[in-house]
Amino acid sequence: MRKLGSERLVIATHNAGKLREISALLAPYGLECVSAGDLGLPEPEETGTTFIENALLKARAAAEAANLPALADDSGLSVDALGGRPGVYTADWAERQWFEGHPGRDWYMAMGKVEGMLQEIGPQAERAAQFNCVLAIAWPDGESAVYEGVLRGSLVWPPRGKRGFGYDPVFVPNGHKETFGEMDPEAKHAISHRADAFAKLVAEQFGE
Ligand code: IMP
Repeated sequence: MRKLGSERLVIATHNAGKLREISALLAPYGLECVSAGDLGLPEPEETGTTFIENALLKARAAAEAANLPALADDSGLSVDALGGRPGVYTADWAERQWFEGHPGRDWYMAMGKVEGMLQEIGPQAERAAQFNCVLAIAWPDGESAVYEGVLRGSLVWPPRGKRGFGYDPVFVPNGHKETFGEMDPEAKHAISHRADAFAKLVAEQFGE
């Protein structure tokens, strides 16, 4: 298995929340990380239909453009009662036009959309959901590796807590009472879908 060397690693994300979490998870391994945003790399369109396809697409685009190894994350929330939606479209469900020609993401709207669909099903609706995370590493010569993580939990309404990002305020991991939005970030990092994928990446990339 190809391993990361001592070169710089591009973190292929323009999402500040993900960048913060990925940098924290990589901190112990002494890699020099630089973000795609800092390098001014364009954000590729996420045309894949699976988390794996989209993670690879983002990692490959950044590795080619920067001529450095690149790490990308594709993640999302899949709700059992909605047949796995929003899934790879998790971020798209938050897209809105604040006013003409000014797009942006509205997470409260996105969480409300999921909740509205569950309420349409009725009070008996199953509230189980999961966060998925795929981490992909791509090297400039085209080689790649992928690592998958998952965390099961359930959805609450109304949203709770101002920590975290995205759908964190409505997601309570199984075995816990607080939402990811209320939980100490360290506690989230210890159990999250991203941490699960990272543990697999670390075992292969930095293990003995
Ligand atoms: P993408 O991977 O850039 O397509 O975006 C996936 C979306 O899933 C993110 O923008 C978040 O809203 C959501 N998501 C992924 N991981 C988390 C998480 O740890 N907490 C809350 N939302 C998340």
